[in-house]
Amino acid sequence: MRPFSFSRPEAPALAIAAKTAQARFLAGGTNLVDLMKYDVERPPALLDLGRIEALREITESGGTLRIGALATNADTAAHPLVQRHAPLLADAILAGATPQLRNMATTGGNLLQRTRCHYFYDRQTPCNKREPGTGCPAIGGVNRIHAILGASSSCIATHPSDMCVALAALEAVVVVQGPEGERRIPMAGFHRLPGDEPWRDTTLGERELITAVEIPTWETGGHRTYLKLRDRLSYAFALVSVAAAVTLEGGRITKARVALGGVAHKPWRVAEAEALLEGRAPDEPAFAAAAERLLHGAQGQGENDFKVELARRAIPRALHQAAAGTPQSHVEKAIS
Ligand code: SF4
Repeated sequence: MRPFSFSRPEAPALAIAAKTAQARFLAGGTNLVDLMKYDVERPPALLDLGRIEALREITESGGTLRIGALATNADTAAHPLVQRHAPLLADAILAGATPQLRNMATTGGNLLQRTRCHYFYDRQTPCNKREPGTGCPAIGGVNRIHAILGASSSCIATHPSDMCVALAALEAVVVVQGPEGERRIPMAGFHRLPGDEPWRDTTLGERELITAVEIPTWETGGHRTYLKLRDRLSYAFALVSVAAAVTLEGGRITKARVALGGVAHKPWRVAEAEALLEGRAPDEPAFAAAAERLLHGAQGQGENDFKVELARRAIPRALHQAAAGTPQSHVEKAIS
């Protein structure tokens, strides 16, 4: 590991004032410290946010659930306000990582989690995301975990977070503070597709700090599910995941939200697919139509060709579970 300076600002304004383009904010450290050990990240300065207690708060007011950027994944998943107003988020968090990691990982860190592409972590190989202009060996290489949607000729990486998939489905807003003041970024616009600048994962400014996420409350009850399909049943990233929630009235879907994980450089949500469900009975033809729309243009890269069919089957299954009110249990690890 290379030498770096370390400081502990005690307020968001002090953290932002100390931030430079190369410095990094440190929260739980579950990704950033690994990246530093692998010599992928080389920040000259770390700004540890751990003393800013106000960023740990979880509150609800006026139909908006607000989760501080430093709230740990464990605290968020167990919080009564989250379980009542956004149980889909708790489901997704519990599907990820391990209890030890969830005790450290934070909301802000989860949003900024970097891809798990093997080449990105291996400094002996080229990688456009790590070193712009060097190439993408995952194209035509080892790409079982890579994207089937929204990829580019520069990068086919996926975003690894489970939490962010639920945040996308729940139409969360990322609250950020920077030198110019505060702004709110809808989840749909927070993460980027790789395009020809795959090193830019998000639309966050270099000196902006995530302070919270805000989620409009939605009483879905049991009518939601986070279905995560992976190579083993715990401590593995999603090959394909589906966050789904619906509201049913009179035997019809009146509201549907669906987002996919493990398939693109960002959580994948298509408003037209949700519109196809609304007004329909919760049946297999409706679910299949939504799946086809979500997967429009899906393209395998060789080793990951199977993901297209896996997603085509997972989406209707998740929607069926949501409509039936039988959410996936990630505590019991049961697959219903
Ligand atoms: Fe790098 Fe992206 Fe290619 Fe992986 S997929 S090697 S992260 S450019």
